[in-house]
Amino acid sequence: MNWDDTSSETEAPDAAAERLVGASADGEDQAVEAALRPKSLGEFVGQERVREQLDLVLKAALARGATADHVLLSGAPGLGKTTLSMIIAAEMNAPIRITSGPAIQHAGDLAAILSSLQEGEVLFLDEIHRMSRPAEEMLYMAMEDFRVDVIVGKGPGATAIPLELPPFTLVGATTRAGLLPPPLRDRFGFTGHMEFYESAELERVIHRSAQLLDLEIDADAAAEIAGRSRGTPRIANRLLRRVRDYAQVKADGYLTREVAAIALGVYEVDARGLDRLDRAVLQALLKLFGGGPVGLSTLAVAVGEERETVEEVAEPFLVREGLLARTPRGRVATPAAWAHLGLTPPYAPGAGGQGGLFGA
Ligand code: ADP
Repeated sequence: MNWDDTSSETEAPDAAAERLVGASADGEDQAVEAALRPKSLGEFVGQERVREQLDLVLKAALARGATADHVLLSGAPGLGKTTLSMIIAAEMNAPIRITSGPAIQHAGDLAAILSSLQEGEVLFLDEIHRMSRPAEEMLYMAMEDFRVDVIVGKGPGATAIPLELPPFTLVGATTRAGLLPPPLRDRFGFTGHMEFYESAELERVIHRSAQLLDLEIDADAAAEIAGRSRGTPRIANRLLRRVRDYAQVKADGYLTREVAAIALGVYEVDARGLDRLDRAVLQALLKLFGGGPVGLSTLAVAVGEERETVEEVAEPFLVREGLLARTPRGRVATPAAWAHLGLTPPYAPGAGGQGGLFGA
């Protein structure tokens, strides 16, 4: 699967932060994720191609006794970029430093980090596309020559003092490689594109996590949770924890398909992984506007949300799932959307509804 064109499910407004099916890490995720992260490439589920290629890059560097090339990982939140960076460090027997683009506002912040790296250390820079411009320029030289120029003083009297850095491996992560300026992108020796996971892969992630959390889960329950996890391991792990809560309170702790389905129904995550907001958008589109086309602003008013929330939080997944299309004339529901909500499309040739784009 390659959904890159629509993978803008990023850090959108408040509505995203509190979603059970949001892909960014919340406080609880951060607390438990360390325990669930695979520690080696062998344990890392899926992403066959990236894994194989990375395995070669790392083994070759180890054989040469060299520091590994800089690695760029692109893909939506929750697909395992941080995890892979830690695996890279572990496989190289190297320490790792973790920071992010937004945390580096001044070139000086970056200089401080770079100059304190140990030889061979892995520097994980999450959201690398959100770094400030001066820091980015400093990074070019650091990546290429393992050197930075530290500017001392101001105005005409300012001088650049070159500072040698130990060789290090930069692992940059971004939601989209296309957001990076080409000079930065070109300085990575290896780029791995992380894709959304197939259901069978998520089932493996869920079984693995269940074992680590000491939970009994059957294959059907794992499949039920995987089907609602939007192709994202972070969401799969989070849904597993919610199902566990429910099972502990209501079902003697044993996780079956039925328990998983009821539990996730309580949390309003439906069989396809849509939550309340996603369904509200689809329902408005179908019931109020006959399936569209309707403008984004009108749709947002109809669901009582901000335009940005509908566009950045709900729509990417609906588009990815083939339930909604963004067209020049407005948002349009696909036949799959009508089927998903169990509604029958009105027959109105040429007048909204299914007319035009998807009409029979
Ligand atoms: P990202 O950095 O891309 O946002 P993370 O690396 O933080 O994602 O992964 C989120 C969670 O999902 C982690 O707890 C990790 O255990 C789990 N995870 C991600 N990818 C995999 C994988 N391939 N196999 C098993 N677990 C995974």
